[in-house]
Amino acid sequence: KIMYMTSYKMQAEESMRRIDMILTAEPQVETSAPKHPKTYDVSFENVTFAYENTDHPAVSHLSFTAKAGTTTALVGHSGSGKSTTASLIPRFYDVQQGAVKIGGVDIREIPHADLMKMVAFVFQDPKLFKDTLLENIRAGRPSATRDEVLQAARLAQCDDILEKFPDGLDTVVGSKGVYLSGGETQRIAIARALATDPKVLLCDEATSALDPNTTHAILQLIQKINRELGITVVIITHQMSVVEEVCNRVA
Ligand code: ADP
Repeated sequence: KIMYMTSYKMQAEESMRRIDMILTAEPQVETSAPKHPKTYDVSFENVTFAYENTDHPAVSHLSFTAKAGTTTALVGHSGSGKSTTASLIPRFYDVQQGAVKIGGVDIREIPHADLMKMVAFVFQDPKLFKDTLLENIRAGRPSATRDEVLQAARLAQCDDILEKFPDGLDTVVGSKGVYLSGGETQRIAIARALATDPKVLLCDEATSALDPNTTHAILQLIQKINRELGITVVIITHQMSVVEEVCNRVA
């Protein structure tokens, strides 16, 4: 018990540190001359970024364009700066040199709320809340109507999940007998991302924890979304096989 207590204490301390970091974060300064992009190419122009208290940049002099309506992959070994690059697109951090642009507009000139609406994410290990599938998808956009949630679920090919449970969208995840596999959870996470009606979709190692068949299905789904919605998709992966399967352009 003492052994477990030590690990719980460490987890609690880390959680407190993170909560504290959020509560004490300085609000981002909004631009006084807001601009609204009309197209959604994402371009990096000679971007350099180093985390605080480090002397080595995580991203150095990076330039590329992820064209709207195409899938672009950022591929490289662990620690090469892929996730950092992705996190610069929604301004989780601001670049120190160069610029990140969407549709030719520097993202620092886009109102923060607009930028957050424009960019959606799918991560490796999505978390579902112990709530209905409806609310889990709606977490992407709390104002979404039931029909809009259903539409996002259909786009993300979740029909079989909704049919599997008698309560459909009202099924409570984590309740007795309600179990979703990794691939099903990832499709709900994609529906959650689509519920925001994004213009840019960032998939950070979204298939890394899945078996090859499920990976194939999720990649097919991302390509279909890419084709049908014409959004800009950026895939971050360390697996060259993922790149070979989906990309028509590699950055
Ligand atoms: P990748 O996604 O390719 O694995 P990352 O973007 O996560 O790479 O990391 C790039 C570099 O930045 C690594 O050297 C990593 O240790 C460092 N790094 C990542 N996140 C942070 C952070 N929050 N604070 C300081 N350094 C970080």
